[in-house]
Amino acid sequence: MRALSRDFVGYGWALSTAEIARLAGIDPIEVVRFDGNVAGAPLTSSRPGTVAGALARVNTYAHGGHRELIDGIARYTGTSPENVVLGAGADDLILLCARAFAGPGDTVAVADDPTYPLFRIAAWLAGAEVGDDDPVLTFCCRPNNPTGAVDPLPAARPLVVDEAYFEYCGETGVGLLDEGVIVIRTFSKAFALAGARVGFALADADTARELNARQAPGPVSTISAVLAAAALEAPPDVGPVLEERERLARALRALGLEPLQSHANFLYVPVHEPHELTEALLRQGLAVRPFPNAIRVSVIDREDDDLLVEALARLLERPSPVAPAGGRRVRRMRATAETRVAVRLALDGASRVRVATGAGLYDHFLEQLAFHAGFDLILEGAGDLETGIHHTAEDAALALGDSLTAALGDRRGIARYGDAVVPMDDAVARAAVDLGGRPAAELKLEHDPGLAAHVLGSLAQAGRLAIHVEATGRDEHHVAEAAFKAVGRALRTAVRREGDGIPSTKGTL
Ligand code: PMP
Repeated sequence: MRALSRDFVGYGWALSTAEIARLAGIDPIEVVRFDGNVAGAPLTSSRPGTVAGALARVNTYAHGGHRELIDGIARYTGTSPENVVLGAGADDLILLCARAFAGPGDTVAVADDPTYPLFRIAAWLAGAEVGDDDPVLTFCCRPNNPTGAVDPLPAARPLVVDEAYFEYCGETGVGLLDEGVIVIRTFSKAFALAGARVGFALADADTARELNARQAPGPVSTISAVLAAAALEAPPDVGPVLEERERLARALRALGLEPLQSHANFLYVPVHEPHELTEALLRQGLAVRPFPNAIRVSVIDREDDDLLVEALARLLERPSPVAPAGGRRVRRMRATAETRVAVRLALDGASRVRVATGAGLYDHFLEQLAFHAGFDLILEGAGDLETGIHHTAEDAALALGDSLTAALGDRRGIARYGDAVVPMDDAVARAAVDLGGRPAAELKLEHDPGLAAHVLGSLAQAGRLAIHVEATGRDEHHVAEAAFKAVGRALRTAVRREGDGIPSTKGTL
């Protein structure tokens, strides 16, 4: 093989989730990754139904390219299709730009240190050296990974501006395409498609034509192209991530740390012993990215970010500025061709609940149930709502039941039985539950808004519990809501820990 620069070091991936799980002695689903700067969950458009058409034609090529995606990108970026170059992620386009502009004997400049390591790697792979002496090409990252800074654009041309985190800050070099600037973007971050590997470059039409000619014939799969096109139809709202970033920064400051101001979905946090801290966090199943004098942490959401804050507080021996996570905590994921449901459940919680699957009324009912059970529950999902809410509501209940089963473990020491009477305006519901391990559902709802009994039945099945409910009243919504609340109240009693014995005369559940 052709020799590369003596400085060359290839890209190094972080540990796999399976390896981290082994290290921490936990199930891989329990690992929380703050090291990839990706979104916490896929967009709702990323579902089997979205790719069904592409899958039916997966035997063939995308003859002529991905026209619909290119048009979508042009609309989204305010450019023309002639300006767009597709790639298998931003990385592919960084490599393409490097090999298109640079070769042996050339120098490529990289703005900022630290910055994204692939710029150097791409220059080296092209046979070039990295330096500032009369560069044939300059790379810059804006916002910069890992610091999150948005600095003025370098004056050098040609200039590649990596805007992988554009959506979080809104600053762009797209207005400079006719002045020697190439912009690179990705679907891996705000569009939550890192695994699909789709990115694009924007350049003036001549440069884009040259780049396309030097690109692989089909770098983006037909499956990935439809996922990206669907994501562009409903771009995500990054507002909650920005709010959460600032909340996390405040929590870290309360620990005495000083995260840099960030314009992206991560924080760069200077610390004394980053590698030791990273190792210690890994042993708890929490992955962050170490740098020589700092760690970089991706912003996920309050619940996951607080796990990190709590762990940091313990390791740094400082009081935790966040409420402690609930005990008997599990994470679960249920994915079928119809739905995807992610659950974070803690039985010994503080009624911090959020259920969001798009199944309307039933999201609300599951929230009521978990709230009155005293659980912490985050249940998020996406289903084939175009076929109605049936699959989604049912799978949400199955996923919750499955999580309940996991959180209860061998069910040793629990009270096992619980009952409650809950009035609600014109309605009243009586519920009794048995967590003995045998599923049963005896549900008499005088009125059912549609799926209430079915959802409770699904919960009983996957949660391996018996649920008895009698609910009466005039208003169907009230009848169902009272039923869910009563089941929640009954569960609160039944899951209570009373000792460490098996709650059965049989000695087994
Ligand atoms: N550029 C920057 C600045 C990044 O942080 C990343 C992700 N690590 C990439 C590019 C790669 O993105 P993609 O998944 O699109 O290859």
